[in-house]
Amino acid sequence: MSDNFTHLNRIFEQQVAAHNAQPMSSAQERREVIQQVIQMLVDGHSSLAEAMEADFGGRSQTFSLMNDILGSLGSLKHTRDNLEQWLTIEERDVFAPYDQLGAKAQVMYQPKGVIGIMGTWNAPLYTLLSPLACALGAGNRVILKPSELAPRTAAVLAELVQQKIDPNWVNVVTGDSEIGKAFSATPFDHIVFTGSPNVGKKIMAAASENLTPVTLELGGKSPAIISTSADLQDACRRLAIAKGTNGGQICISPDIIYVPSHLLYSAIQELNAEFTCCYPTITNNPDLVPIINATHYERINHYIDDAVAKGVKVEYSHDEQDPVGRRMPLTMVINPPADSKIMQEEIFGLAVIIKTYDDFEDVIADIQSRPNPLALYYFGNDQKQQTQVLEDIRAGGVSINDALMHAAIHDAPFGGTGQSGMGHYHGKEGFLTFSHNKTIFHAPAQDLRREWGMLPPFSNDFKAMIEAQITAD
Ligand code: NAD
Repeated sequence: MSDNFTHLNRIFEQQVAAHNAQPMSSAQERREVIQQVIQMLVDGHSSLAEAMEADFGGRSQTFSLMNDILGSLGSLKHTRDNLEQWLTIEERDVFAPYDQLGAKAQVMYQPKGVIGIMGTWNAPLYTLLSPLACALGAGNRVILKPSELAPRTAAVLAELVQQKIDPNWVNVVTGDSEIGKAFSATPFDHIVFTGSPNVGKKIMAAASENLTPVTLELGGKSPAIISTSADLQDACRRLAIAKGTNGGQICISPDIIYVPSHLLYSAIQELNAEFTCCYPTITNNPDLVPIINATHYERINHYIDDAVAKGVKVEYSHDEQDPVGRRMPLTMVINPPADSKIMQEEIFGLAVIIKTYDDFEDVIADIQSRPNPLALYYFGNDQKQQTQVLEDIRAGGVSINDALMHAAIHDAPFGGTGQSGMGHYHGKEGFLTFSHNKTIFHAPAQDLRREWGMLPPFSNDFKAMIEAQITAD
């Protein structure tokens, strides 16, 4: 058994023992652990940003600080500042006649125990530390498993956690998919997995052996609809900014843009204009995030080549390509057929599909015909269309007249639905995810059921009284 497997078993047993010794922590204790994580990020932000830059082969430190450090700090601080009100025991209504007898009902939010969180490489800190905030806020112990595709970030994080945080609360195990398999088979009290739907199924299957509940933060093909009622220039500007973010390697990156047919070439021009404004050049541009590795670079280019081979028109924001530095121009694939690879796989890089339409109803039907997306974007000011988009399409979250933004709200749940995932983190919903919602009944001092004729042997009067209550009002 390798060191990593032994380490996983040891820290899991240590955290289970710590949880059993003190299953319920106070709000103050939880805030202190969260503060340790906050301080770790404040102290270690430079070394973490350097590690992320190296892992991507040149990801801008400014972007890493904004996305992974500030994003995680936002989740941690929101939880730190709100957990006390979330964990307060709630009073609920008791049913009759016990309400009249002085019975009480309450709901208590109890920590689940030891939580396992598996992150991705594309947001190597945020996908670990944002759910960590909610899990700690709910009073749990946590083991983090970073992605092996961002190994330097994983190593720096593991070292910082070891130096700065009580291991009875937070610990890290590193390794590849073999450790991932052992991790998902560990009898955690809850597992959070961020990654692809295919691996998500394996995590759920492994967790089911222990009846461990799972939160699956998956991906998919998030659509953006540009309505005829939209300000086309503003819509394309916001979409180009969103698509360029992290080199398109974001789970909620726009994957398919629906454009009214007569606006196709204006839309391409506007997307190009904003993309080239943000990124005037491709090769060695420090603001343009490279594709994480050669395998992923080739994967995305394979989708584009497949479309080209099928006669599909492709437009590029720049004439440059940078296979060595793995930076991509914005690549717009126009109306690819349904059987092309790019229509079947999540792109997760700097290519985007543009589909033209003449009838808005066809767009709704097209999105409905595919798996529920993680994110959905509507650009336009037609209230009827907005309502239709919100009511008729089941998507994880929605931004109206912008892209990506809904996922940055710390005070609202983030998560997918159907093929894009299950469960939530962020905010109070994240706290509830990692809490057992326990109902408590406090009996009244007196039990009058015998006096009231409610106990066996049952009388006809009691039966008549019960029947009188079977009403439809
Ligand atoms: P992935 O599914 O390929 O891998 C995720 C992790 O799973 C890896 O680090 C690996 O160690 C582990 N793993 C692989 N096989 C395993 C197995 N059989 N058992 C247990 N663990 C195993 O995902 P990725 O390439 O790291 O990330 C990209 C995907 O993540 C995209 O689909 C993207 O949309 C999604 N994503 C989702 C969110 C979200 O919040 N919903 C955020 C970021 C990324």
